[in-house]
Amino acid sequence: MADRQLHKFDAVVIGSGLAGLRAAVSLSREYNTAVVTKVFPTRSHSGAAQGGIAASLGNIDDDNWEYHMFDTVKGSDYLGDQDAIEILVRQAPDVVYDLEHLGVPFSRTKDGLIAQRKFGGHTLNFGEKAALRACYSSDYTGHVLLHTLYENSLKNHIRFFSEFDVLDLIIEDDVCKGCVAWDIRNGGLHVFHARAVVMGTGGYGRAFKITSNAHANTGDGLGLVLRNGLPLQDLEFVQFHPTGLWKQGILVTEGARGEGGYLKNRDGERFMERYTPTLMELAPRDVVARSMQTEIDEGRGIDGKDYIHLDITHLGKERIMERLPQIHDLAFNFSGIDCFKEPIPIQPTAHYSMGGIPVDNGCHVVKNGKLERITGLYAAGECSCVSVHGANRLGTNSLLEATTFGRIAGRSARADLSNIDFSDLPKNPRARAQAEVDWFLKANGSRKVADIRADLQETMTARCGVFRNEADLKKQLDHVRELQEMFKEISIDDKGKVMNSDLMEAIELGHLLEFSEVIVSGALGRRESRGAHFRKDFPKRDDDNWLKHTLAWRKPGGGVEFDWRPVIITRFQPMERKY
Ligand SMILES: Cc1cc2nc3c(=O)[nH]c(=O)nc-3n(C[C@H](O)[C@H](O)[C@H](O)COP(=O)(O)OP(=O)(O)OC[C@H]3O[C@@H](n4cnc5c(N)ncnc54)[C@H](O)[C@@H]3O)c2cc1C
Repeated sequence: MADRQLHKFDAVVIGSGLAGLRAAVSLSREYNTAVVTKVFPTRSHSGAAQGGIAASLGNIDDDNWEYHMFDTVKGSDYLGDQDAIEILVRQAPDVVYDLEHLGVPFSRTKDGLIAQRKFGGHTLNFGEKAALRACYSSDYTGHVLLHTLYENSLKNHIRFFSEFDVLDLIIEDDVCKGCVAWDIRNGGLHVFHARAVVMGTGGYGRAFKITSNAHANTGDGLGLVLRNGLPLQDLEFVQFHPTGLWKQGILVTEGARGEGGYLKNRDGERFMERYTPTLMELAPRDVVARSMQTEIDEGRGIDGKDYIHLDITHLGKERIMERLPQIHDLAFNFSGIDCFKEPIPIQPTAHYSMGGIPVDNGCHVVKNGKLERITGLYAAGECSCVSVHGANRLGTNSLLEATTFGRIAGRSARADLSNIDFSDLPKNPRARAQAEVDWFLKANGSRKVADIRADLQETMTARCGVFRNEADLKKQLDHVRELQEMFKEISIDDKGKVMNSDLMEAIELGHLLEFSEVIVSGALGRRESRGAHFRKDFPKRDDDNWLKHTLAWRKPGGGVEFDWRPVIITRFQPMERKY
């Protein structure tokens, strides 16, 4: 192997979203650190986040971490692990001030404090009234956070390998020794030999047709973990955000409702009055998405079609341009709507992945329900499941999770690195990745990657979406397995090695097909409704049988194997979740 394709770093971070960069900034204070990322760092999906990052700063109202904890536990439909949630909400103010000190230009109150706004499910005094808890920077919050962390990464001399697609992890005897990545621009496989590997590979919205997620959000990290014999946790919980632009899925931030926007059906009725009269449009996302879908399914969508109106006309031009300028541009550019004068057509959109790679509270990747670790492997952000969101995530808790647990992953790895030496690489660390690439570059079958992907996305949305039932899920499980078979008969037209997007899309589809089977199997197995997972045939939450996390492994011969892990409950006992 040519030397230029073998790299040695103390720590390698996979992914340059907020979780990856926050971990890398922390690690780089002491250790030689590299970030390997398949898109240019500032193009990571974190940059698309609009609404805000939660922290009980109490700059405007009388807030504290216990209220934040209660809301997060309740929002999770009691599936969140309360020890992890406590870490999240207690560290939140410090994390936000830390980001401020790194240079994030937050919006300000008149007195110069960090401004805060309302977001769904966040309340004061254990549900009494809506809290102003989301810190924001206009509606470009993720953008400014990501750019600030990237600038800090450059300042700390972190080495970036941009447009490198990680195809495999190097794990032997429960020790992670690095990863193998394909150089997208020049072709060729590179080996990264490391003492610590942090995964921050983001979410998996691209398994669905209507999604707010970037094209790169194909859940590669999940595929990498599965093929290395490790489990995934709670994958059946997929959040559908109520307000995606109709037909496109592009997100209209919940901030639009936080600022006072209304949801209306074909009769111009603010229908949330019938579902959650207290919180109205600011009920948690799963509740609003289901209410909207019910309106649509019962024929009260606009003109009887599959969309609803989000009306912000009454906020006025000045407030919209100050607080929601991006929404104005997105509605205009993608739907041709002038939101000063007309309501915006919207529908639920696959938005966030609550499940992911199971980790302990120090972000160490674990291999089973006993929380036994893989040495030198960490995960944080949306690809991981720690689990602070349980069955449903509250808006603004995810930027918080990515930055809080990104920092924790970096700190854990720093602490561990004093005791972890470089271990020898296996003889041919890239053998499996090489075989995969060789197979793809020779693939000359009759199927097209784009067709299989479109089919998967369409059927996942139809049969494993906002509402689920046994018959549809069974059908979809068989279908995903059929698609996996079809995938063996694909052809790749571009046989070259340089900038081969055909090859990249095929690799991504491989991941989508693998973990979609886990999503559907998990949804089929969980015979209850909790948070974002709603079974029409089992509409009630069932704490006696299902107050537990799902762990799922891919069986060597195909199919999914399950185990379960208890939920950690410390302060708040499960109650009925009324809003
Ligand atoms: C439109 C939108 C708006 C949102 N708004 C908010 C909000 O206002 N508040 C909030 O709290 N949350 C919000 N979220 C959620 C939040 O933005 C994300 O959960 C969070 O930013 C995820 O960060 P991350 O670092 O885990 O992943 P990402 O930012 O998605 O980064 C993933 C990284 O992994 C890399 N990667 C993936 N696969 C590979 C591979 N095989 N090889 C190499 N690199 C790889 C990618 O290149 C990328 O750099 C929003 C999400 C969306 C989609």
